[in-house]
Amino acid sequence: MATCDVCGNNYDRSFTITQGAVTRTFDSFECAIHAMAPRCAHCECAVIGHGVEVGKAVFCCEHCARHASAG
Ligand SMILES: [Zn+2]
Ligand SMILES: [Zn+2]
Repeated sequence: MATCDVCGNNYDRSFTITQGAVTRTFDSFECAIHAMAPRCAHCECAVIGHGVEVGKAVFCCEHCARHASAG
């Protein structure tokens, strides 16, 4: 049993994700994505796939990357 870092739910199937030196505990992938996924610089949705990196910005898809660089 461990408590989710995001919503505080105490869940017996919680899991941890380590990113660099930081380890966090989550009760669901929804909470893990909320806390750890980068945000698209254009539409602000959570980037849970590979995403598209343009310089320091991360986009969810090529459409957003093009849209942002065009205007
Ligand atoms: Zn949670
Ligand atoms: Zn996007």
